[in-house]
Amino acid sequence: MDLALTEEQRAVQKTAREYAERRLMPAAHARDKESTFPEAELRELGDLGLLGVAVPEELGGAGAGVVAYSLAMQELARGDASVAVAVSVTNMVAELISRMGDEGQRTRHVPRLVSGQAVCGAFALSEPQAGSDPAGLTTRAERTAGGWRLTGTKQWITSGDRAGVMVVWAMTEPGSGHKGITAFLVEGGAKGLIVGRLEDKMGLHGSSTAQLVLDGVEVGDDAVLGGVSGGFRLAMMALDGGRIGIASQAIGIARGALEAAVRYAGERVQFGVPILKHQAVGNMLADAATWLDAATLMTLRAAALKESGQSFGDVAAMAKLFATEKAGLICDIALQVHGGYGYTTDFPIERACRDVRVTRIYEGTSEIQRIVIARSLLARAARDGR
Ligand SMILES: Cc1cc2nc3c(=O)[nH]c(=O)nc-3n(C[C@H](O)[C@H](O)[C@H](O)COP(=O)(O)OP(=O)(O)OC[C@H]3O[C@@H](n4cnc5c(N)ncnc54)[C@H](O)[C@@H]3O)c2cc1C
Repeated sequence: MDLALTEEQRAVQKTAREYAERRLMPAAHARDKESTFPEAELRELGDLGLLGVAVPEELGGAGAGVVAYSLAMQELARGDASVAVAVSVTNMVAELISRMGDEGQRTRHVPRLVSGQAVCGAFALSEPQAGSDPAGLTTRAERTAGGWRLTGTKQWITSGDRAGVMVVWAMTEPGSGHKGITAFLVEGGAKGLIVGRLEDKMGLHGSSTAQLVLDGVEVGDDAVLGGVSGGFRLAMMALDGGRIGIASQAIGIARGALEAAVRYAGERVQFGVPILKHQAVGNMLADAATWLDAATLMTLRAAALKESGQSFGDVAAMAKLFATEKAGLICDIALQVHGGYGYTTDFPIERACRDVRVTRIYEGTSEIQRIVIARSLLARAARDGR
């Protein structure tokens, strides 16, 4: 099994790391405090090819593959998780359109997304009453003479108030459950698209999370992505891949926190020695480093499977479950190692603890990942007869 990175993967990793250290880390605290959306940074990331790492080159992406994308996400999240989440959604939307869109949709939207010209993308699936169970969504799309009229409310939409291009899921055949859902491409600023409440969150303050009201948004037939009634499959496909992005985000946040904790433990002296020399502190850091390594390997494996066109949904769910749960524990250990100072905003650890928490919730909660994994165990047992 070859665990070595290719030259191209290393180059993407280096570009993302250098950008994160030069442009993201120094301003992450201020962005968090002032809830500043990273618009300039997203454009710069577009120029660097980091908004579409896994998107094909002919559509303006870097064409560097899913492993490179995971590595880039880890580095960006280490720099600022708020920026990383906007990047991950943009990449997910661009990938979905490049894979499932027709020629017109691909050439119209994908280059704008990955260059940063559209600022970023948004993925509008969740609704106030439909989160873990998106088949229960109630946004309606009704036929008009020239296309469709969308009416309903979307909830929790990352970058929903900023995105130039979004995918919106709506019911085209009410009463048919998940079989009646269709995905539509909607441009930011479309008539009837109203930005409602912006959530006041625990963390990720540099990322905006919007409620979107679709008050009779009119779109043409050319806005249907992946065919009428094909929307649910599209959403599940995008979320399978998206989970690699969220696992990578959790790893990046945890890595930054662990590095800070190791640094601090080497400098902070109590009882006459650096606290790292107290075995209880060393043990906590050893556990954290072990979990981080395992999470990274699991996530890169899921990325490699996706990249090579193999089935990866259950492996991505396992990677997301493990990486996000352990990342929460790693950040907590990092805070503990900082003692009282860790509980203040003078150190970046409290922000890491707040930012990492949501990785266990979005793109499928930990409980939903377990359902995905258990279903695949059952399917495998039935197939293999064991
Ligand atoms: C900051 C942020 C950004 C987000 N960005 C986006 C976005 O860009 N686009 C988008 O579409 N959505 C987005 N979401 C929504 C996110 O995906 C949902 O919050 C998530 O899927 C959970 O849905 P819910 O909040 O409605 O919780 P619910 O589905 O109501 O779940 C509540 C609790 O019940 C548990 N639960 C539910 N069903 C089951 C079950 N069958 N078995 C066991 N436990 C269960 C859940 O695990 C959870 O613990 C975002 C959310 C947040 C907080």
